[in-house]
Order: sequence, then structure tokens, then C-alpha cells
Amino acid sequence: MMKNIFYTAVLCCTLLFLSVPRAVADDTDRTRAQRHAMVAEQIAARGIQDENVLRAMRSVPRHLFVPRLQRRNAYADRPLPIGHGQTISQPYIVAFMTEIVQPDETMRALEIGAGSGYQAAVLAEIVQEVYTIEIVPELAIWAEERLKLAGYENARVKHGDGYYGWEEHAPFDIIVITAAAPYIPPPLIEQLKDGGRMIIPVGTPYMAQYLVLVTKDDGEVRTQNVLPVRFVPFTRAPE
Ligand code: SAH
Repeated sequence: MMKNIFYTAVLCCTLLFLSVPRAVADDTDRTRAQRHAMVAEQIAARGIQDENVLRAMRSVPRHLFVPRLQRRNAYADRPLPIGHGQTISQPYIVAFMTEIVQPDETMRALEIGAGSGYQAAVLAEIVQEVYTIEIVPELAIWAEERLKLAGYENARVKHGDGYYGWEEHAPFDIIVITAAAPYIPPPLIEQLKDGGRMIIPVGTPYMAQYLVLVTKDDGEVRTQNVLPVRFVPFTRAPE
């Protein structure tokens, strides 16, 4: 009798463990503590104040978006390689770019350069819908898989050249570009909603670049250099 109860209990515990989604099972007290420390020491300490941004950065399991070999570095204060010569940005840069476009829960956002999917997840924690485009096919698949695993059903990934934006879902309240372009692609300015905000690294590959904030008010487009940065290059699909 006791033996049967014991076996039933073991079976129930096993079934319960297997039914917990992997993403949730992989987010432990340790990773949550690392995230809280990351926000306190790297993000709030450097002046990021927007409560939505701080909450999103505390929530998104960054370690699930990096390659397995980089997991132990996931919450470090630096960018990390994600394969194909690309990188996931330093947490502070993700927070900075998210805060400056002033996201809220009513908005629709476009990201160019899905990479790991992490920046899209941070946006998806705050806004209503996120559309993200990635030019490297393997990364587009990775980002889509990771966003799904982490439960972000309001984020959609497309493989392609982000230069042309995503016409079908335009205009966007927010556009975040995470690869450095020599100039601001005109189709993206076109797809920015009036009153909307765009952030884009502009400059020479691997050298002098600035994050440029682009605003559009009553059809008038303004640009402002806000932070010197170093991003991977914005590449173009062959014609
Ligand atoms: N936002 C990403 C950062 C990735 S690095 C993250 O959170 O991990 C920048 C990404 O932009 C790279 O994956 C690169 O392949 C992609 N990229 C470069 N040029 C592009 C283009 N024209 N269209 C779409 N993606 C592009």
C-alpha cells in the first residue's frame, strides 16, 4: 500500500516536472538574481529610469537568447557573440535604446536586426506588437524559436533585408535598428508614424558611429546624435 502511494507520488512529480515549459524550468532563482543585479548595477546605476524598461529588463530571461556556451556570461556588462559574426548588444545599450523611443503598451514597434531575439523580447514586454527582421536566415530561425520558447506571442520575425522595413504593418510608433548603417534608410523614415521615434546607429562599420534619434512631428523629420557606439554593420541583400 505504502509502496503504491510512493510510486504514484514519484510519477506525479515526474509528470509535473515534464509539463513545466522548458523556458520556465530554465529560469532559476540564480538567473533571476543575476538579472536583478544586472538592472541595479549596470542599468539603473547608469541613469535608466523608465519603470517599463527596468521591469522588462528584469523579466526577459537573457540567458535563453544567447548560445548555450555563452549562458554563463549572459548577464555580464558587455556584448556577446551569437554566431555568424554577429553580437547581442550589451544590456545597458539595449536599455538605453528602449528608453529613448519611449515605448508604451498601446504601441507597435519595428526592429531591424533580430539577431538573438533579445531586444525584440524586451520591446515585447512593453508594447502591443513587435515586428522584427533579420538578414541572416539561421539567426531569423533562432530568434523566432527563442521568442516562442520564452512565450512572446506578440513578436513576429521575418527573414529579409530590413532596409525596406515591413510595409504591411506600417506605420510604426517605434523603430529600433540594431546594425550600423551609413545613412538612415528612407523606407524606414517613411514607415515611422507621425509622432513616432526611431533609434539607429549611423556611421562607419566598426569605427565612429553615433546612435541617432529620429523624430517625426507634423511630417517634419529631425535627427539628433545621442551616444557614441560600436555596432556590427547593416548589410544589404544582393540585388
Ligand atoms: N537586436 C539583436 C542584435 C543583433 S546584432 C539582439 O538583441 O541580439 C545586429 C543584427 O542585424 C545581426 O544579426 C545582423 O545579421 C542583422 N542585420 C544586419 N543588416 C541587416 C539588414 N539589412 N536587415 C536585417 N537585419 C540585418
